[in-house]
Amino acid sequence: MKDCLFCKIINGEIPSTKVYEDEFVYAFNDIEPQAPHHIVIVPKKHISSANEINSDNSIYVSKIFEIIPKIAQKLGFDKNGYRVVNNCGKDGGQTVSHLHFHLMAGRQFGWPAG
Ligand code: AMP
Ligand code: ZN
Repeated sequence: MKDCLFCKIINGEIPSTKVYEDEFVYAFNDIEPQAPHHIVIVPKKHISSANEINSDNSIYVSKIFEIIPKIAQKLGFDKNGYRVVNNCGKDGGQTVSHLHFHLMAGRQFGWPAG
């Protein structure tokens, strides 16, 4: 989609540090990491937010969650664990309107989240 930051990252218009890519999924390092490992995982199809997930596009979400343990193993934080976060909408703190999951690791995270 035109004027979408993450669509531009996916098509290479905006540079990113790629962690993983396949037909469905693109993953790259977050520019403002909140943890020693902070990876943003996005569907290659423009889906605005978790509110827009449905039976026609949920394959992208399942592909993302299939790839998470593979990234965790590759980067060596599968044993210690990690956190996966989706921010949806204004109250959820979403700043980029292209569905994405934050995969964060390398430190302990508190709960409940603030
Ligand atoms: P959210 O606040 O959940 O919408 O997350 C958006 C994330 O995208 C934030 O963690 C930003 O640091 C990250 N971000 C914004 N621009 C870039 C960029 N050009 N490259 C990598 N990550 C980015
Ligand atoms: Zn997009």
